[in-house]
Amino acid sequence: MNYDRVRSIDPDAADALAGELSRQRSTLSMIASENHVSEAVLEAQSSVLTNKYAEGYPGARYYAGCEYADEIETLAIERAKALWGADHVNVQPHSGTQANQAVYFTILEPGDKILSLDLDHGGHLSHGHTANFTGQLYEVAGYQVDPETGYIDYEALDERAREFEPDVIVSGYSAYPRTVEWERIQETADAVGAYHLADIAHITGLVAAGVHPSPVGVADFVTGSTHKTIRAGRGGIVMCDEEFADDIDRSVFPGGQGGPLMHNVAGKAVGFGEALDPAFEGYAAQVVANARALGDRLTEHGLSLVSGGTDTHLVLVDLRESHPDVSGGDAEDALHEAGIVLNGNTVPDETRSPFDPSGIRAGTPGLTARGFEESEMETVADLIVRVLDAFEDGEADPEVVSAVGDEVDALCTDHPLYE
Ligand SMILES: *Cc1c(COP(=O)(O)O)cnc(C)c1O
Repeated sequence: MNYDRVRSIDPDAADALAGELSRQRSTLSMIASENHVSEAVLEAQSSVLTNKYAEGYPGARYYAGCEYADEIETLAIERAKALWGADHVNVQPHSGTQANQAVYFTILEPGDKILSLDLDHGGHLSHGHTANFTGQLYEVAGYQVDPETGYIDYEALDERAREFEPDVIVSGYSAYPRTVEWERIQETADAVGAYHLADIAHITGLVAAGVHPSPVGVADFVTGSTHKTIRAGRGGIVMCDEEFADDIDRSVFPGGQGGPLMHNVAGKAVGFGEALDPAFEGYAAQVVANARALGDRLTEHGLSLVSGGTDTHLVLVDLRESHPDVSGGDAEDALHEAGIVLNGNTVPDETRSPFDPSGIRAGTPGLTARGFEESEMETVADLIVRVLDAFEDGEADPEVVSAVGDEVDALCTDHPLYE
């Protein structure tokens, strides 16, 4: 992986590509929605399928020459069915947002109602934020986590649903560390006559591996991303019962997209194939064990975790108690300086702003892909705390940051990436 062919005609682009490769190798990627795919997935994604227009679906395309596109898409679909046990899977959505869009286009008319978790409680833009098409096309109301426990307040959700009478209830979150009780939300959806969309974007891989309960067979629609906890490259998927298969397919194409990104569909096929290997269950279990080890150690250092811990691949730290003078944004910057890449994140009942929130979110999928285990996650937790403790007057002591950076370098060297 040296980008020599790009370099020979375009040194500027080659510098950026090589820079990114070296950045990934030499930093700890702890953004909870990111991962490192295998070299096999990278190869599939950079294949000649990027040249192919394959509007339509296997066996029913609008253009000639789709025989291999059909083969790769069929592989992706069959493997996805085996991984998640869904009746019908559409593997063409360019992203998780577009997977959600396909569901909304299938079941909602403009002006219809969505009930979803508030963004600052862990929801997602594509669940109804005013800056997203969902907030502009639909009427949106929010539910929350219980501020005391940090868990979804299922009773309040139920009450809210009875008042608001939504057409769809959206579950599945971006910054929620706990197991989601799909059945409880389904009961509410049934009681108010709403559809239930379970958006498992963050936990697609955890669900595939059986380390988080599956909403497939519970919720009406399940959407996922293929680049977060499953290492299949950037993209989205939609799953549903046979009953909605044709409508969903039409809502993806031509409803919301043109030609599929067939090179990414190829990445999905290869990544799903890897996830069908029994070793993937071990990977997913290690992702969760690593998040627990990280969370436990941060707690030992006196940090406060939203919900008190984690059942998933991520921890959400509320800095207000342990480090009231350090914002999530400042923490993100100082940790980045030290080579630990994560994000400042809002926490329930945010008292700062989305642009400079009170928390940090850290995930373990990427580090686990590099072979990190619990003891190293404890070391990483220690490094994070060293940087947070080094803050004075809004700035982290550069000497501490640089010393932590040296330890990050050593961890990266011990866990080489894309050699
Ligand atoms: C990440 C995420 C998505 C998908 O995001 P894209 O960037 O559009 O792929 C959808 N829903 C939730 C809850 C997410 O966290």
